[in-house]
Amino acid sequence: MRFSEFQKLIKELYFKKDQARGIKSTFLWLMEEIGELATLLKGTDLDKEKISEEIADIIAWTSSIANLLDIELENALKHKYPNKCSKCNSNPCICKS
Ligand SMILES: [Mg+2]
Ligand SMILES: [Zn+2]
Repeated sequence: MRFSEFQKLIKELYFKKDQARGIKSTFLWLMEEIGELATLLKGTDLDKEKISEEIADIIAWTSSIANLLDIELENALKHKYPNKCSKCNSNPCICKS
């Protein structure tokens, strides 16, 4: 699935709810998912299945926020992350930090 297709799916599924909730409350849900990921990463035995679910949630809520702002994430990703590091122009990145 292309990223644009995923964002479209999230729009089909949740746009009405996202609009009713509003962007600030939608952002709080994203923060909650990030908190869930943080909790999972604190442990010593990393549960990759649960971690992958939380990462999926984070991408889904991020897509909801982009939908509310009418931002196409696939374009944004290509622009911000072209096939090289936008700072050092290398792939892989050779930036010092
Ligand atoms: Mg979650
Ligand atoms: Zn770099």
